Amino acid sequence: MAQYNPPLRDLQFVLHELLDVSSEFKQMPSHADIDADTINAVLEEGGKFAAEVLFPLNISGDAEGCKLDKVTHEVTPPTGFKEAYAKYVEGGWPALSCDPEYGGQGLPHTVNQCFYEMLNSANQAWTMYPGLSHGAYECLHAHGTEEQKRLYLTKLVSGEWTGTMCLTEPHCGTDLGMLRTKAEPQADGTYKITGQKIFISAGEHTLAENIVHLVLARLPDAPAGSKGISLFIVPKFHINADGSVGERNAIHCGALEHKMGIHGNSTCQMILDGAVGTLVGQPHKGLAAMFVMMNAARLGVGNQSLGLTEVAYQNAVAYAKDRMQMRSLTGPKSPDKPADSIIVHPDVRKMLLTARAFAEGGRALAVYTVVQLDKELSHPDEDVRKEAADEVALLTPIIKAFITDNGWLATSHCMQVYGGHGYIHEWGMEQYVRDARINMIYEGTNTVQSLDLLGRKILGDNGKKLKAFGKKIAEFVEEEGVREDMQEFINPLADLGDKVTKLTTELGMKAFGNADEVGGASVDYLRVVGHLTFAYLFARMAKIALDKQNSGDPFYTAKLHTIRFYFAKLLPETASLIRTARAGVAPLMAMDEALF
Ligand SMILES: Cc1cc2nc3c(=O)[nH]c(=O)nc-3n(C[C@H](O)[C@H](O)[C@H](O)COP(=O)(O)OP(=O)(O)OC[C@H]3O[C@@H](n4cnc5c(N)ncnc54)[C@H](O)[C@@H]3O)c2cc1C
Repeated sequence: MAQYNPPLRDLQFVLHELLDVSSEFKQMPSHADIDADTINAVLEEGGKFAAEVLFPLNISGDAEGCKLDKVTHEVTPPTGFKEAYAKYVEGGWPALSCDPEYGGQGLPHTVNQCFYEMLNSANQAWTMYPGLSHGAYECLHAHGTEEQKRLYLTKLVSGEWTGTMCLTEPHCGTDLGMLRTKAEPQADGTYKITGQKIFISAGEHTLAENIVHLVLARLPDAPAGSKGISLFIVPKFHINADGSVGERNAIHCGALEHKMGIHGNSTCQMILDGAVGTLVGQPHKGLAAMFVMMNAARLGVGNQSLGLTEVAYQNAVAYAKDRMQMRSLTGPKSPDKPADSIIVHPDVRKMLLTARAFAEGGRALAVYTVVQLDKELSHPDEDVRKEAADEVALLTPIIKAFITDNGWLATSHCMQVYGGHGYIHEWGMEQYVRDARINMIYEGTNTVQSLDLLGRKILGDNGKKLKAFGKKIAEFVEEEGVREDMQEFINPLADLGDKVTKLTTELGMKAFGNADEVGGASVDYLRVVGHLTFAYLFARMAKIALDKQNSGDPFYTAKLHTIRFYFAKLLPETASLIRTARAGVAPLMAMDEALF
């Protein structure tokens, strides 16, 4: 039977021992009262909700999928999803890190991040319904008018309504500048919006009373390209002046997409036929406003794969201890049994440890980044806010792409641990692989993330953000480099830091001569920088584990083993990535298109 145990101990380690979040929060007036006990209590309850309410619906939701009624256009999610959503709302979970002015509980985003990791482990498809609502909340909170906030925010915060993001159209996904959906201004200040959106997650469902669609469209006088896109709120049901739900708006689900994974989430083709909407932010500046939601969603997608990595790992470990096949190469380990458990075989251990290291490294990176996000939003010192914002901007594409690429590798390894049984539906392992695959594609493909990292975030600001992050690493190397027992971690970290600096300079020079050089190197480059972030955080975790390894708590022993595995078996991948990044774009572009 599939299982999921919320990784509370490791979350607490990252939050309190690695990042000392309570001290960070003390500096932020809005979070100054939040202590470790409160955070732990919230996560313990959140873990129960994930494991007891959502996890039992994961395999059944995948098998059943969503159903569209072609007459009413209603979409029914799998059995149990609606009841689980009602419990989620009843428990006040949607409000966790929302603004108290709109009914939120005002907890740091960091707490929400950890809670969402557990939801994603338990059931990624279900978690996308509230996950998108939270993104819509963030976007309207940042860019909505007072009236829009009054009408929509409390309902999104309470969970009575959910949200979506409607960007993609049949002919445009990455290149949103080409979108065609039209918005016609009306005399009463509203807009009538007409067009077709595809692939809209949670676009239609019966979990909530209303759905708040955030739609990108063009005004009649819009300049061509991405500078002519505006953002609109289009509710599924009109909202009366007193905030109550009115008649159906002219937006509906025309069809459900049939897809590889996340079957429990409704991926909808949405038809807008003169649907009434209101403008969010300035005309033609919609993409910038939507980026609030997209950035939140990018961190959220990395978190989806982190959740899948953890749950796949837990199940693969249980299976590897239980399944007996063959004898250990060094002689029987269970001589009284017909064979040894497969966990004795080195390569099975390699697959398990890879998933474990990706989960622990990913968790540290994701929580580290969201602490910076809390600083960006809530720290009283403007310089600190700016510095934190730069770091979040730098790390967001890494979280999205590195953690989701790792999630794909990890879930695939964990499936492999099961042998043929991993390929069979009832064990649940092939579902993790299928669910993990989309995370590399949506919210800007991982290639697009790598171009954002190298082209915009690094070369675009002359490496300023990367240097600031590198300075933190250099300080840590300097401080801990004197410790004999830290050499095994500090030396490769310092070495990789130097190599990243050299590689960045080299790519920057090449890009001056040929802009395609960025595209030829960016995917490898992102993975190298992803490893740099992991190596930094793992080295910091190693210091704590070394200091506590004699405490008698096996947690620290296991942590050290995982970190040593990471430095010995995963980090060296950077050598070949640096080589392929340096090999340049010529081998990719030399062949004439006709020869393909
Ligand atoms: C299950 C699912 C759920 C989704 N949910 C939503 C949602 O809720 N809302 C929403 O609006 N959209 C959603 N999407 C759409 C998703 O965000 C897009 O599919 C994605 O951004 C890629 O766009 P595309 O499919 O049009 O691919 P394309 O843009 O056509 O890209 C095709 C390939 O070309 C590559 N490519 C494109 N441009 C470049 C470039 N400049 N350099 C290098 N390579 C490039 C891409 O990386 C990709 O490999 C969803 C998609 C799926 C499948």
